Amino acid sequence: MAEAVKRLWPETKLAIGPAIEDGFYYDFDRKNPFSGEDLLKIEQEMRKIISADEKFERQEMGKEEALRLFEKMKEDYKVELIKDLAGGTVSVYRTGKDFLDLCRGPHVSSTGEIKFFKLLSVAGAYWHGIETNPMLQRIYGTCFDTAKELEEYLNSLQEAKLRDHRKLGPQLELFDIYHEQAGAGLVFYHPKGAILRTIIEDYEKKEHLKRGYQMVITPHIMDVSLWKTSGHYDYYKENMYFSSEEGREVVVKPMNCPGHILIYKSKSRSYRDLPIRFFELGTVYRREKAGVLHGLLRVRGFTQDDAHIFCLPEQLRGEIKDIIDFVFETMKVFGFEQWGIELSTRPEKYIGSQEDWQKATDALEDALKEKGLPYEINQGDGAFYGPKIDIKLKDALKRTWQCATIQCDFALPKRFGLSYVDEDGKQKQPIMLHRVLLGSLERFIGALIEHYKGELPLWLSPTQVLLIPVKETTVSYTQKVKEKLEDRQIRVDMDVRNETLDKRIRNAELNKIPYCLILGEREAKSGTVSVRKKGSGDQGAITLDKFTEELINQIRQYK
Ligand code: ZN
Repeated sequence: MAEAVKRLWPETKLAIGPAIEDGFYYDFDRKNPFSGEDLLKIEQEMRKIISADEKFERQEMGKEEALRLFEKMKEDYKVELIKDLAGGTVSVYRTGKDFLDLCRGPHVSSTGEIKFFKLLSVAGAYWHGIETNPMLQRIYGTCFDTAKELEEYLNSLQEAKLRDHRKLGPQLELFDIYHEQAGAGLVFYHPKGAILRTIIEDYEKKEHLKRGYQMVITPHIMDVSLWKTSGHYDYYKENMYFSSEEGREVVVKPMNCPGHILIYKSKSRSYRDLPIRFFELGTVYRREKAGVLHGLLRVRGFTQDDAHIFCLPEQLRGEIKDIIDFVFETMKVFGFEQWGIELSTRPEKYIGSQEDWQKATDALEDALKEKGLPYEINQGDGAFYGPKIDIKLKDALKRTWQCATIQCDFALPKRFGLSYVDEDGKQKQPIMLHRVLLGSLERFIGALIEHYKGELPLWLSPTQVLLIPVKETTVSYTQKVKEKLEDRQIRVDMDVRNETLDKRIRNAELNKIPYCLILGEREAKSGTVSVRKKGSGDQGAITLDKFTEELINQIRQYK
């Protein structure tokens, strides 16, 4: 692609062009933005290069020689890259008449080996990802061994577009994110979205209470000294919002942990009290750069289903295993059956001793092994206060979504001087676990919408049944049906608009409502309802009581 771009527009400067998970990209510096037409031109040129079957030749040279070479070519970005490279030699690849690029390799041996490719999109990207650097143009593309694989991939991209929660959310009147006056990255739940969120929250509260968690609620702004003790001030400052009050600096909470720690510390704890499990649907705010905000996945304010468990060393493994069970049960209830697990180890910036880090990492790893769960090690990706297990769910398109996290923490209990009185009467330090099940509720709702393409399961649907009176004369019967269903906690809406029946049914389909009840004179007389099920059409007429019982049974099946 870079060769094609240079052939078409020789003045373009090349930056970097790595392979990524689903293809590749290249960053270019060029005055005029690439248009859709340009992409087609580039593809055409690429095809020419491919049919010429040009050899790729690797050449190694000293750094000085490489610098002179790329300086002569006026490839400023390459020059900068070479200067930053460690070691005395660099490798370049030559292909065609005069194309040459800095590359570690390996490469295919000639361009003829590349067959099924497609350029996908153009996006702006700062050099090295730093906002004060020049803005480059990144062209994304993909490439496969067979035409079939390429086609499948392009279809899945198309499918992903149809499922995009950023489109479906506003379309289904669940939420919207950007209000110019409020600022970016902040979520506004509309009535239907707020119902969905409440159903998820209610489910979580019930399940946590069942499992021996206690609910707590902590403040949203707290004194900066608390965040200095916790280490967030030193390790997380750039992500925090600050404000001041009568000369005191306060922080809008980016995490719930310090609040829960203060509740733990509020009285003396005995070994008999442990484990103590505090659960909060805690709303946190984190400074995120505008460029990384993305739908519900990356926002500036979100709510976590957050818990902190304070336990004895001998309780640690059992607690971790219980959390893992809780995660999988919850994911299953919401319809996610596939996942991936990562174990993240000590990062460069960390608090606590190496010995404690080892113990914590071992505890997490042992729990995974004992559960027989496959996992990957994510070297250096732990939080600054401890290693963690991440469980990523996979949606219907096999895309992964960050979901549960279990973090083991020996450091914060030490910083805050947490203790319990042990059997021998001595003060000892509890171990702390941080964990979320669904993670950010916002992101999870995004995942739900895309997984189900907006067609939420019955128990999660904001509107479960839409009532459509055939005529003005059946509105009062419809009203009665509505009351009866609502008495049984079924979420009902009525469409009394002066529109044709067909149009109202179509509208219900578009709004992805699971059931429609058509109510005419015949139904009113016999106390029945004519049922239409989304995706399977007319189900015939049954009595209202029978419909209600069947619906309630269906809703219960999920829980
Ligand atoms: Zn925490």
